[in-house]
Amino acid sequence: MQNICLECIGDEPLHEIVAVASSKIECDYCGKHTHGISLQHLAEIVDSPLRKFCKLSDYFYPQLDLAVPMNYEKGFLLVELLQNELKIGIEPAKELAKRLIASNSTDPDDKYLSFYYNHRYYHRSHITSSEYMENWYNFSEGIKHKRRFFDDEAKKQLMGIIGTPDDTKKLPSIELGPGTKIDTVYRARKAVSEDKAREIQLNLSTGLGPPPRTKSIAGRMNPTGIAVFYGALSEDTAIAEVRPFVGSLVVVGCFQITQQLRLLDLSQIGTGITGSIFHADYKKQAGRQSFLQSFHTLIARPIQPHEEQLEYLPTQAVAEYVANVLKFDGILYASAQVGAVPDEHLDLLPYNNAKIASRDEMGQYNVVLFGEMMPTQNNITGDAQSKISNTASESFTSLALQNGSVKTVKVKGIKYNYEFTCIPKDKYFNAEFLSGVEDRPD
Ligand SMILES: [Zn+2]
Repeated sequence: MQNICLECIGDEPLHEIVAVASSKIECDYCGKHTHGISLQHLAEIVDSPLRKFCKLSDYFYPQLDLAVPMNYEKGFLLVELLQNELKIGIEPAKELAKRLIASNSTDPDDKYLSFYYNHRYYHRSHITSSEYMENWYNFSEGIKHKRRFFDDEAKKQLMGIIGTPDDTKKLPSIELGPGTKIDTVYRARKAVSEDKAREIQLNLSTGLGPPPRTKSIAGRMNPTGIAVFYGALSEDTAIAEVRPFVGSLVVVGCFQITQQLRLLDLSQIGTGITGSIFHADYKKQAGRQSFLQSFHTLIARPIQPHEEQLEYLPTQAVAEYVANVLKFDGILYASAQVGAVPDEHLDLLPYNNAKIASRDEMGQYNVVLFGEMMPTQNNITGDAQSKISNTASESFTSLALQNGSVKTVKVKGIKYNYEFTCIPKDKYFNAEFLSGVEDRPD
């Protein structure tokens, strides 16, 4: 009989479950005499969560690789899956795989078939955010048609969807500001003429607040009563975000973040944040992540001219909740303009080895910062800035325009980013191709 000790099981929630059932053993993998469990017993413990939260990949015919959709998830071989999910070495994973295969456990998707094979591929099941989406729908409808403002009932609904202040530790966050890898943000403005560019160039630091009410176009995330600053993490993204046409002028400037800020980080959605399938809370966490993924796509989408102000109310309420209740200083999200928004329907990457974006890749992200405005002090020096007008104005407390960073650029061209997408010539194409059936249903 083979045994494995607690120290050789890396997954923490599983570690805790095994600890309860453990006894003194000699570990076959590290040789220690310590607390552990037989591999047979471990197989019995992990069998149910594996079948519940993982599934056999449709990737079955490697020779048909070209026929599969772009976002096809191939997954991992059983031994790899066990290494990843249990965080165990390859040797115990191989032994465990043998025992699971011998168990003849059935596939929950097809009760006549076994679930465990050596040469098939597996991935995590997509935990649908249906419960969250339903709550979101009710919330959105309520706020658009019944309430029109953010009350306690709406707050309670959002607690269920996004989480309570106690849950904030479970939400992905990122620190910005002095001493962090992101201490600057960029902001751009379109200019219709050289005169207009000159004007913006001299007033960029003061032109941060919401535009005058008459010209105001509501932002997706302008919570009432809170000053917001929309910025990008690179000059390129800031320019792309104002969607200039070829030949137009854009004024862009760089702001130093002067205080530590903590942002809800939607860039991390899908990078290992869903955690262990052996955790009692896994399903809830994964559902919430799945909701945040949809929310990310929603807020990153460029505002369409036909959209009504009403459409912004739900996301504005979320922003207000994230700012006032969860106490985040802002939200970091991908720029749709530079193609950084992940595909909404891609499964979440469950493993911790999923990569965290580098500073360069972060350049494709935007931030919305919540904060306070303060009257502008004319203490900015430098040639361009010395001409800043003395009109009463306000600027964002946590940002300072960098001396000499404001410039005007002329857009020379726009680079489109696209991918191959397969539109079958008729809807039976794929099924026919995969099954090899010649006859086409009428
Ligand atoms: Zn061991």
